[in-house]
Amino acid sequence: MSERLPKVYDFKAVEEKWQRIWEERGIYRFDREDRGRPAFSIDTPPPYPSGELHVGNALNFVYIDFVARYKRMKGYNVFFPQGWDCHGLPTEVRVERTTGRKKSEFAPEEFLRLCREYTLKWIGEMRKDLKALGLSIDWSTEYMTMDPDYWRRTQHSFIAMYRRGLVYRGEHPVVWCPRCETAIAEAEVEYVERSKPLYYVRFRIKESGEDLVVATTRPELLGSCVAVLVHPDDSRYAHLVGKHAVVPLYRREVPILADEGVDREFGTGAVMVCTYGDKSDVRWQKKYSLPVIISIDDRGVMNDNAGPLAGLKVEEARARVAEILKEKGLLVKVESISSTIGTCWRCHTPVEILPKKQWFVKSTELSQKVLEEARKVRWIPDYMYKRLENWVQSLDWDWVISRQRLFATPIPVYYCSNCGAELVVGEEHLPIDPRFDPPPFEKCPKCGSRELVGERDVMDTWMDSSITAAVHAGWPDRLDERLFPADLQPNGYDIIRTWDYYLILRGVALFGVSQFKEALINGMVRGTDGRMMHKSYGNYVAAREVLEKYGADSFRLWIALAAATGQDVRFSWEGVDYAHRFLVKVWNAARLAEAYLREFTPARALSGLKPVDHWILRELASTVSRVTKHLEEYNFQGAAQELVEFAWHKLCDHYLEAIKYRLSANDPAAREVLYAVLLQLLQMLSVFAPHISEEIYHTIYRDKEGLDSITLSRWPEPVSYSEQEAKVGELAVATIAEARRAKHDSRIPLGARIKAVHLYSSEFAALLRSVTEDIKGTLRAEQVVIHEEGEGERVVPEFPSVSLTIEP
Ligand SMILES: [Zn+2]
Ligand SMILES: [Zn+2]
Repeated sequence: MSERLPKVYDFKAVEEKWQRIWEERGIYRFDREDRGRPAFSIDTPPPYPSGELHVGNALNFVYIDFVARYKRMKGYNVFFPQGWDCHGLPTEVRVERTTGRKKSEFAPEEFLRLCREYTLKWIGEMRKDLKALGLSIDWSTEYMTMDPDYWRRTQHSFIAMYRRGLVYRGEHPVVWCPRCETAIAEAEVEYVERSKPLYYVRFRIKESGEDLVVATTRPELLGSCVAVLVHPDDSRYAHLVGKHAVVPLYRREVPILADEGVDREFGTGAVMVCTYGDKSDVRWQKKYSLPVIISIDDRGVMNDNAGPLAGLKVEEARARVAEILKEKGLLVKVESISSTIGTCWRCHTPVEILPKKQWFVKSTELSQKVLEEARKVRWIPDYMYKRLENWVQSLDWDWVISRQRLFATPIPVYYCSNCGAELVVGEEHLPIDPRFDPPPFEKCPKCGSRELVGERDVMDTWMDSSITAAVHAGWPDRLDERLFPADLQPNGYDIIRTWDYYLILRGVALFGVSQFKEALINGMVRGTDGRMMHKSYGNYVAAREVLEKYGADSFRLWIALAAATGQDVRFSWEGVDYAHRFLVKVWNAARLAEAYLREFTPARALSGLKPVDHWILRELASTVSRVTKHLEEYNFQGAAQELVEFAWHKLCDHYLEAIKYRLSANDPAAREVLYAVLLQLLQMLSVFAPHISEEIYHTIYRDKEGLDSITLSRWPEPVSYSEQEAKVGELAVATIAEARRAKHDSRIPLGARIKAVHLYSSEFAALLRSVTEDIKGTLRAEQVVIHEEGEGERVVPEFPSVSLTIEP
């Protein structure tokens, strides 16, 4: 038999012990051989190895774990895998910062080796944090997207889509980050409101010599101006349509066109089209087959097309051109306006639009099918579907999947230097790194040339992480139908437009279906000041800090209690402390129970029950039903609130008090009921607070129940009770509570004996008579006197026709 529960609940020792034992015993392994139980597969989003677990990550993971633990107890063979989404620019930047050397100063192989090395180190730190949270992950499934085996899968997916005509290479305008020097996807653009100067610039009409003032926030792009547009109904400019404007400083003549898309209210109502200032420019350039004049290079520096601005950075060029225009009397005025600009989500640099030869996924063609599949998914909360729909409908361009970086999955393609043919590698040669590996082709199949060169570009990291559900199911070697599509895809609402979108898109492209059936969407954790948590705001809390102060169970329970699923949560130390105090209450209740249940052998038949026993069984049964219903609906807050209410305010405050005298008198019914009630409570609580539940289970129940872990037991079913008796029990409990308050208010210690309790009620006299023993025993009264007439000093709030007076 295990040791007794110590007086003080030492969460550190308890949690570390169980985390170790759970793993040693493989309690959370997915059983691949088991064909009996239904499987429940979770497509855990692999986190980015930043080295530190944010409380936001913790919330996402803890939600997943609530589901995993609940489903396991409901009889499912749960698959809870763990991966790491390794690639990406932040790692490259951090390696540069850590080593104090620029990427270009390393041989590429050496730089990649360092990226891998640091990534492993950061994963090690985060793995510790995840384990300390008590997550029931099957660690035997762990994978990293930077592993050659994962490269093979990502490259395979690229080839499969290429063969279906869903991946192509072409030259198109793409969003370009001049700081990162790479193309980025629309999903990687962050829009921010900024106040910017709006310059009113004087153009001249070639045919008539009159002035035309055009307002622009980007005068540095005058060298790329290819047309001026006005609205067709704008009477101010009707006579100019069809004529030409002369671009100031550059003297180029550009057509004046009428287009419905022009906003008449903006600036002067005349707008210049530059290649490319924004997405409208891309649309207009295409629509009117305008020439393309690029004046910004890949690093955000003006090139020769910018004339006098050549060699300046974009921001400098803007200031300089304003000066020149002013000197020449071509700047009419400058206003300050607030405008939305796109920035790179990794480095926050304003992005440019540049035409580039890149690899694309034909995502726009698949949008309808993506929405069709997305509508079949159960979204929790259901309004989150709308976010995905809005996003898909806002997409104008195909997804650019090539990146000009180093640390990523290589694109499995070689090119013929002679005829330019694209040679896509066969699956049997994967994984391959065309940047370093010799081509697996002898010669070009088109022209026979032996001059082949490998693709230098690599893939967007979302190409790695948008096939996880299929990879978990063994794809491409096999596709375990128990695991695919995944039953659950859990993630934050901030990545619906990336994680959920790309998973569905790739599911549609590769398998014709969504890769998941349900999407559980969580909110963000805000700082204690209510703002988004950010290191620079000074409101940042690391998960480890909370774990060290309070342990995993209190942290997890706080997460459940703090907000409804999908809502933002404000971090609160007080909230975590409340959860901790609750768990201490449960611990103390268990210690009391342990004293009577240790040597007790349950008969597993409930007989000789008193009304208060029926009452607690009724409260337990309704708690079981409600908690079950909440968990089926992923309402963790509702479920956790029910458990706190039951354990704290029914079991501890009332029932335990009402049966103490029977326990010490060795009443078998009281012990039988306490045994059953505490066990069911712990089973439900183990979803939220698994360590403390396991510890108490092992001390009191392990030998009698025979299961190695509480998580292996079946989810509780409501027990039966007599409703009539339960009502009497409720009367007893309410009366006892009021009499205890009376004792307390008269400064009589609760354990001290009193002479009598006088109860007054005509309506309930008979019922009260049937529970006098409980009232007497709990209040340590020598006698209970029931009066059918008259009134006592205090009214029982739940039964206003009952009143009482205590006689010390
Ligand atoms: Zn950037
Ligand atoms: Zn060739």
